[in-house]
This record gives sequence, structure tokens and C-alpha cells, in this order.
Amino acid sequence: MHKPLSPGKTIGILGGGQLGRMTALAAANFGYRCYIMEPQRNCPASFVSAGHLTAEYDSEAALLKFASQVDVVTLEFENVPVKSLKFLESQVPVYPGPQALEISQDRVREKSFLNDQGIETAPWAPVKNAEDLDIAVDKIGRPSVLKTTRFGYDGKGQAKIGPETDAIAAWREVGSGYCILEGFVDFTMEISVIVARSVTGEIKAYEPVENRHANHILDETHVPASITAEQTEQAMEIATKAVEAMDLVGLLAVEMFVAADGRILVNEVAPRPHNSGHWTMDACVTSQFEQLVRAVCGLPLGSTQRLGRAKMKNLLGRDVHKWEEYLAEPGAHLHLYGKADVKAGRKMGHVNWLFQDDDA
Ligand code: AMP
Repeated sequence: MHKPLSPGKTIGILGGGQLGRMTALAAANFGYRCYIMEPQRNCPASFVSAGHLTAEYDSEAALLKFASQVDVVTLEFENVPVKSLKFLESQVPVYPGPQALEISQDRVREKSFLNDQGIETAPWAPVKNAEDLDIAVDKIGRPSVLKTTRFGYDGKGQAKIGPETDAIAAWREVGSGYCILEGFVDFTMEISVIVARSVTGEIKAYEPVENRHANHILDETHVPASITAEQTEQAMEIATKAVEAMDLVGLLAVEMFVAADGRILVNEVAPRPHNSGHWTMDACVTSQFEQLVRAVCGLPLGSTQRLGRAKMKNLLGRDVHKWEEYLAEPGAHLHLYGKADVKAGRKMGHVNWLFQDDDA
């Protein structure tokens, strides 16, 4: 039996962005303190946490100091070096652990792992050199998408290979490094499921949501997703299978495509709170951030029940200047991340709406 972490204890969070900030706010509601480790000064999470260690993730001295201040460690940034997590794990419980990150940090490992569990993805092939690229384009066909295996996000490190594209030029465009070539999925919708798994092994998934992107960045999330009951069940089963197989404690966000023929294919997984789960803050019994705290502290998981139909809109870049308009709108729930510099495409905040109508 795992003893739950009692209120007053300290949760260490690797990464100090908005996901860390909202996790720290949720943790505070249960009387926990949060201590952030993040190289950037004045990061969003630092303003709402008991402490902030400004240090690089690969500094052993800093990791030791961090471990000495906290009772459990979680993360909001999945590109923390696996070596650092392994080191931290020798000092203090770390959820999710290094094995989950090893899978999610690398698109080839991720897709191999998912396929090994019988979870369907787009067809894919690894590309390490120009010869592999030729073989991969022959095997996967066109159109396809070439992606760097590591450090890609919001469409960065990706190039589409259309009927006329010079594949080598596309590979150069993404840095000529280790890549994956994926078949281009003819999808009708992008959905995601967030699933929590606690230290005790308890699992709870939120229902699938529909994600609409603009310029490769999440723009809006709509709940419920307009998919069939079978697809809803299937998407939740896939997420549950993945979190169990990864032996992950914490949250796993599973991004999926609903293909034109109705199949559900996994695009990628993220072992942390996810932008497509922000709606849960105002439209679910338990928010994804509270659920993460519950999972890593060994508390019972909260209900994932939805309170109505919901929508989330990201405030990207200058959208944030409309904050007063949103505040004046009845029923709009505004969340700002405390970022000083407004840059194009930067996630500055989001707005949630909960609707009590017949569609709920
Ligand atoms: P990713 O960084 O893998 O999440 O990709 C960013 C976005 O690019 C996705 O949300 C999709 O809109 C699009 N995309 C990525 N991979 C594919 C694919 N294999 N087929 C079609 N669209 C894709």
C-alpha cells in the first residue's frame, strides 16, 4: 500500500511554463507546496510557487539540491534529459519515470512501442541517411510527412512531402538528422484523450475532445467531439492501454486522428498535462491539473465527469490583449499565464466556456 503524501509536503516540478503554473495552483488547493526547477528566470510557474531553482536540467549539483527540497517530482516539460530523471529517481520518487520519457521523447521509439501494443498509427519508416530516405519514400508513398525524431512540437521540425517535393530538400529543411517518415493521414478530425494513472495503479480517462489547429498550433478544443459512441470508447481504450503499457504514473495525453474511413490512429503521446485538457479546469468535476496532483501524491483520482458542453480557446500572441473583453463576457473563464513578452504564436492564456444546452 502506498501512503498518500500529506498536505504540507512539497511537489517538485521540472519545467516552469504554464502547465507547471496550473499544476502548482491545483496543488496549492490541497495544501501542497511546489518547487520549480527551470532554467528561465521569471517563468510562469515561479510566480505561484514556494520556490524556483533556476538551473539547467543536466546539472547534477542542481538536481541534488532540488531532490533535497521535495517529496515527489513530476514534470510539465517532456524533454528533460532521461539521464537527469534517472539521477533524480535515485534520490526521490519521480512520476512519470524515465522509461515513459524514453518512449515519448523519440518518435521512432514511440511509434514502435505503440504498434507493439497493437495500437494503430500512420504507416512510418525511420530515416537516418539519404539511402533510408529513398527506401522510406518508396515504402510510405506520397503525400507523407517527414518529422525529426526528437524535439518537434507545434509542427516544428516537419516537412510535407507532396507529389512533386524533392525529398532530399525536405530532409535538409528539417536539419538532415534522424527522422521518421509518416504516411499523410486523410483525417476528418483530430482528437485527444487525457488519461491519469495513480501511484496506486488506479486509472481514469477523460472523454475524447476535438482539437482544431491554426498554423499547426492548437487553436480550439471542443467537447464532446462529434464522433460515434464506438469511436469514443475505442479512443479511451487506446489511451488506457498506452498508459498501462508505459507503466506511467501521472498524466498521458494521447493525440489521435479520426481517419476518413473511421479508424482511430495515434499521432503522438505526451506524458504531462496537455493544452487540449485545459477545458477540464472549468467544465469537469476534476481538472487535469488536480488529477495530476492526485496521481503523483497517491490520492484517489477525481471524477472525470463533464459538467456540460465545453469549448477552450487559446490566446496566442496578441490575442491576449482582448483579456478585458473576455472578462466582461458572462460565462467566459479567463486564464492568463503571466508571460511578460507577447510574441506571435506564443501561448499567453486561454478562455474556457461551459454551455448548459441540449448537446451536453
Ligand atoms: P505533431 O507535431 O506530430 O503533433 O504534428 C502537428 C500537426 O501536423 C498535427 O496536429 C496534424 O495536424 C499534422 N500532422 C502531423 N502528422 C500528420 C500525418 N501523419 N498526417 C496528417 N497530418 C499530420
